[in-house]
Amino acid sequence: MTTLTLNAASPNRAAMSGVKLRFRGSASRLTDEEQSALFFRALNVDSSLRARTAEILARVREEGDSALLAMAREFDRASLSSLEVPREFIERAVTLLTPALRHALERAADNIARVHRAFLPQSMETSPEPGVIVGRRPDPLQRVGVYAPGGRAAYPSSVLMGVVPARVAGVGEVILCSPPGTDGLPPFTVLAAAAIAGADRVFAIGGAGAVAAMAYGTESVPRVDRIVGPGNAYVTEAKLQLAGVVGIDSPAGPSELLVIADETSSPELVAREMIAQAEHDPSACVVAIVVGDRVTSAVEEALSRQLEQAPRREIVERALAGQGGVLSVETLEQSTDFATRYAPEHLLIALAADDACRACASRVRSAGTVFVGESASNAFGDYMTGANHVLPTLGLARAYSGLSILDFFRWTTYQRVDRAAAARLADDVALLANAEGLPGHAAAAGAWASDSAPVERRTVTPDAASLVRRDIALLATYVESRDADGAPNGAAPASCVDLSDNTNLWGAPPAAVIALRDSPAARYPAPYSAELKNALRRYLGIEDAGIVTGCGSDDVLDATMRAFAEPGDRIAYSVPTFSMIPTFARLNGLVPVEIPLRDERDAFDIDADRLAASGAKIIYVCAPNNPTGTGVSRESLERLVGRAPGLLIIDEAYAEFAPTTNVDFVRRTARVVVTRTPSKAFGLAGLRIGYGVGAPETIDFVERARGPYKVNAAAERAALAALANSSDALGWVRQHALIACENRDRLAARLRDLGFAPLPSCTNFVLLPHPRAVELGQWLRADGIIVRTLTDLPRDLASLDAAAGCALRIGVGPWSIMERLLHSLGAAPV
Ligand code: PMP
Repeated sequence: MTTLTLNAASPNRAAMSGVKLRFRGSASRLTDEEQSALFFRALNVDSSLRARTAEILARVREEGDSALLAMAREFDRASLSSLEVPREFIERAVTLLTPALRHALERAADNIARVHRAFLPQSMETSPEPGVIVGRRPDPLQRVGVYAPGGRAAYPSSVLMGVVPARVAGVGEVILCSPPGTDGLPPFTVLAAAAIAGADRVFAIGGAGAVAAMAYGTESVPRVDRIVGPGNAYVTEAKLQLAGVVGIDSPAGPSELLVIADETSSPELVAREMIAQAEHDPSACVVAIVVGDRVTSAVEEALSRQLEQAPRREIVERALAGQGGVLSVETLEQSTDFATRYAPEHLLIALAADDACRACASRVRSAGTVFVGESASNAFGDYMTGANHVLPTLGLARAYSGLSILDFFRWTTYQRVDRAAAARLADDVALLANAEGLPGHAAAAGAWASDSAPVERRTVTPDAASLVRRDIALLATYVESRDADGAPNGAAPASCVDLSDNTNLWGAPPAAVIALRDSPAARYPAPYSAELKNALRRYLGIEDAGIVTGCGSDDVLDATMRAFAEPGDRIAYSVPTFSMIPTFARLNGLVPVEIPLRDERDAFDIDADRLAASGAKIIYVCAPNNPTGTGVSRESLERLVGRAPGLLIIDEAYAEFAPTTNVDFVRRTARVVVTRTPSKAFGLAGLRIGYGVGAPETIDFVERARGPYKVNAAAERAALAALANSSDALGWVRQHALIACENRDRLAARLRDLGFAPLPSCTNFVLLPHPRAVELGQWLRADGIIVRTLTDLPRDLASLDAAAGCALRIGVGPWSIMERLLHSLGAAPV
């Protein structure tokens, strides 16, 4: 089947409507050349115009008034006795207006003043840090020059648009330049508008000469700070050439109008607006973008009919044939996309329904000004609504705004830094300055450091930041959740219960506490805690295992990585997992490879195949896993042990709460290290003890990588007491681990009753995914309950994705505390 497409050069359509348009048919079928003409409407300045303009600027700069007087004779055929228009002429011009025209101009000026006054900028102050204040104050410009075209194109309305806002802004002096007619004066309507708007002085100077005079200043024309107002190609070129000498507004090109229409629009209205804009200039750009082919033809026919009657028909016809178009799209979204790309000076949204117009207007991202609705004719905006009609053209609405009250101000920022703040900022500023090789800056800031004596040293000797290993410098210091918002380090406030660290909430075994009392402090402990290792072997029931102890299992994990992977090797692990793993990896120069956990219908597990295939020298598996609390299947671990070529670390920090352990792997292979800790079930986190279990030859290497004396004497004594069968401390530990598991299951059930969805746990904590976890965490904290809030968990697990990667991790303890937690959660307003 062949479809009839109406493309740009459809001769039928041209003949049908009788109007010559440059662009027609479907907007989606524009040729490259048409697209470039539509969307790249750059000002085509030929090099001779550029050179002539430069010549004029140079003449005015060198000869001043006499050049301007000569140019008035040359270009305007006016012989002037003075460049400045005498005050009485300006005032008399107002009396020459008909009362009706005078009223209309005054009404327009009044509306411009009202609108611009309403948008006056305000001073602002802010404080990014205590003692540092940054403010921003709008200061009106001291002197502004407004250019108004003269000759046949006399636009008193443009005089109002430039002068009135300058007056409202409080500009010190406002001068106006407009070319003289042969009588030596600018058009009387321009003079009258200058009087109504309140211009201080008017000069009969036109074109590039006027711009040069205002930018450089001459004997009679004062130098201004900024020049605004539209003009011909010479005026625009002169402004661009002088942009480094004086402030200018956005470059002005031919007028533009884009009309968005659909089947609810009136084709007659669309055509009327297009013709009104096209009558400005044969190079005006007027385009209608219309939803539906039927309306497209109707608009073309209306254009053709109205053209017959158009008073400036010739100009309009040339404009339509040059840069005019009626293009069709299929949806309103496409029309607003087109508008954003076209970036017109004026956009008229001519749909019948108000709400559709507003929705459309809010979607367009680049237009000088938008006329929202059929009755918001472009002409009202040109003259009377009070909005500024000096607007960006040539598609520059992508970057520029129309003239506004802001153009008559400049911002002064000011900064105050009190002495205390200066002392706090000094070090960081000196650091940045030194990094940029500016020691003088560093000294200027460093002089305010609180201990100003070491300033010299700070600036002349390399500081710690320039000496530190780069990977260490990039690491953040670990922050505990309980002191993240200011609670004393290492201890929750007395009134709070702290469920954030998964420790034994019943405390330490009494036997361990007693053992601590008479621990020897004066002498070194055994370098590798030999006695403790034996007790741990008995506890684990593996008499021939290698055991390495350390300052927490953190220390053992760190040393194991160091022993078995070279800097640059990979370490693979599932995410989410124990948050310290990436840190230890980086500390050891390893490259982390993160592989998401699997969450298939609540069957959480590691992805053994991907982990094994990762090419990592070390694979770390947390079983059961922190922070999910979920278990790791034996089958997956078997696969890993079978396939992974490197070392496998199985972190069993929570083994005492889980139904199974994997410590037996160490009997089968020398490539497994199982880490354990008395920090959790044993209630000894404060003593910082941890251990690793493996084949003796494996563990020997970890021991070497770690060094002696990592477990202090008191900690070793207490741990020995907790492990001793004789004191029944072990019974105490086992009994409380059991209660923790019961309370965990009970807590999970109650949480489900409250509508939460805790993950299945085989640890002494539960993870509660929730999209508003942050608010919930704050709510609990306000109630004296501290839990761990996690906000950037990977979304690969369905339950974490549903919770936007946010969750609370809640430690399980005595039931009375759990009740308190449940009560608070039940009352939470989320
Ligand atoms: N592994 C896991 C999974 C943990 O959650 C923790 C502590 N939160 C540790 C190891 C480290 O414990 P420690 O250093 O106290 O033995």
